[in-house]
Amino acid sequence: MYYGSGNYEAFAHPKKPKNVDNKKAYIIGTGLAALTAASYLVRDGQMKGDKITIFEKDPIAGGACDGYLYPEVGYIMRGGREMDNHFEVMWDLYRDIPSIETEGVSVLDEYYWLNKEDPNYSLMRATKNLGEDGETNGEFGLSDDGAKEIMKLFFTPDEELYNKPITDYFSDEVLNSNFWLYWRTMFAFQNWHSALEMKLYIKRYIHHVGGLPDFKALRFTKYNQYESMILPLIKYLESHNVNFVFNTKVIDVDFDITNDKKKAKSITIEKNGKEEVIKLTENDLVFITNGGCVENSTYGSQDKKAEYKPELKAGGGWDMWKRIASKDKSFGNPEKFCSNPEKTNWMSATVTTLDDKIVPYIQNICKRDPFSGKVVTGGIVTVKDSNWLLSWTFNRQPQFRTQPNGQLVGWIYGLFSDKKGNYVKKTMKECTGKEICMEWLYHMGVPVDQIEELATNSANTVPVMMPYITAFFMPRQTKDRPDVVPKGAVNFAFLGQFAETARDTIFTTEYSMRTGMEAVYTLLDIDRAVPEVWASTYDVRDLLNSSYHLRDKKKITDMKMSFIEKIALNTVLKKIKGTDIEKLLKNHKLI
Ligand SMILES: Cc1cc2nc3c(=O)[nH]c(=O)nc-3n(C[C@H](O)[C@H](O)[C@H](O)COP(=O)(O)OP(=O)(O)OC[C@H]3O[C@@H](n4cnc5c(N)ncnc54)[C@H](O)[C@@H]3O)c2cc1C
Repeated sequence: MYYGSGNYEAFAHPKKPKNVDNKKAYIIGTGLAALTAASYLVRDGQMKGDKITIFEKDPIAGGACDGYLYPEVGYIMRGGREMDNHFEVMWDLYRDIPSIETEGVSVLDEYYWLNKEDPNYSLMRATKNLGEDGETNGEFGLSDDGAKEIMKLFFTPDEELYNKPITDYFSDEVLNSNFWLYWRTMFAFQNWHSALEMKLYIKRYIHHVGGLPDFKALRFTKYNQYESMILPLIKYLESHNVNFVFNTKVIDVDFDITNDKKKAKSITIEKNGKEEVIKLTENDLVFITNGGCVENSTYGSQDKKAEYKPELKAGGGWDMWKRIASKDKSFGNPEKFCSNPEKTNWMSATVTTLDDKIVPYIQNICKRDPFSGKVVTGGIVTVKDSNWLLSWTFNRQPQFRTQPNGQLVGWIYGLFSDKKGNYVKKTMKECTGKEICMEWLYHMGVPVDQIEELATNSANTVPVMMPYITAFFMPRQTKDRPDVVPKGAVNFAFLGQFAETARDTIFTTEYSMRTGMEAVYTLLDIDRAVPEVWASTYDVRDLLNSSYHLRDKKKITDMKMSFIEKIALNTVLKKIKGTDIEKLLKNHKLI
């Protein structure tokens, strides 16, 4: 497997890999990573679909990428996916996956046209004082010292950041700024999370810094991501006769391990309460989605809270990974991620408005007609003064293809599930859907005497508790996640958020898809480049542009500097006078 970029590699089709007709594949999980692996086995590996078997413990495919109508409970989407144009593997695959909306069109083109015609941006990124403008004014509000702390983290070698929290690098200069408000709510970072992950994120998305305050950096699918992303992949795989086996837990995978070779030799599955062992040869490839950010998630209902149940059980992603990890050092260290659910949980809730009474409050904040079919809030709206650090969003409506006319489906989430609300004097964990809705309506400016009535009769709200939703952000070091294909592995690979791949950042659809592509390309030795992670961190234009925006469009000469630093800067500016470097800095408005 090797990386590349540019059209030469992007448009070429690889030759059929040697010996693929003698191989079979077993894939554990039906998340985006697993479906991507299956799709690359078919498209580029040219493996016949009926040689591929996918085991899923749940009754439905998609894993973290959900969006369903649960009878008697209501619509649920645990999350909404902010995405970008430089999800290179995603678009490499989806350019060949037919849309299920429009015949003859790929998912990529459908998404491209939609986001061209209806670009995303927010007209109110934050609120305060019960629905008033949060007055972030599109600014990061960083002091020069804060900007320097971010710069310092950017240049700190990964090794120095191992096992350290963000608070070792950011002081209140950053943590009290708009920058941190935008960042932590957009990406779900907590102050105690990994400094390494924070650095990797800044590098990965440096080209988007200017688009963070109003979300013009983002793009969204038409419907929830189960319908817009998972269903087309399933249809594609079904059309190639790939076997899906639902309600089947993989309990364990066993290996033959010597000094220089590791071979998966059996998979133990449990179906209908019965265990079965599948014996493997070197020609049987195994793709393992280990861990999982929505493992142990539970949902409540309008009148029921979502139970907090972090206990790990056999047949779940964490338990399976723990068993596997105990067999070889190179299979990672799941304890780093799954042993402190108090530090990795948060909650979301899906709210469905049932009549037009709540709509004006939404419209007052998003400044758009929520029923237009176009961008509504344009990303999350964060309630700056919420104890739960509540954010909420309505994406393009309808969000579900079955959604009745006149209803809106939106998403609420809170980063602090154990703090009492400002209006509902309970923690988010203790709240029913209705109570979460009441807290949200309060912050939207609904008069107090109407809050309960609207939450009861004008909305249906379903809470979800996710004990491991930010497990991947826990402080860690190298080798805590197994490599996608560990050294010496001949017939197995790890997939998803807890498999290690270079430079990309977790908690994204792209990360999972990338691991799927890399796994297949490595194990089948497919001779075409995997698109490298978008290289903006090496592009001086993006670096200059982000410096300009991060300091709210100030020139470098306006930075707080010591006398010596000023002299040094003036000397450099004199030296570059009349050169292309001066032109570049001027073009980016830095001098
Ligand atoms: C609330 C939320 C918000 C998000 N926001 C964004 C965003 O803004 N932008 C973005 O790009 N991404 C976002 N994501 C992330 C993205 O959705 C996920 O990273 C991605 O979908 C994970 O895919 P995966 O295949 O790696 O893992 P999963 O989707 O977790 O799939 C793993 C699958 O394996 C199955 N499985 C596990 N263990 C076993 C076993 N032992 N036996 C059988 N089956 C098993 C599970 O049931 C599951 O179906 C968000 C996710 C959530 C939940």
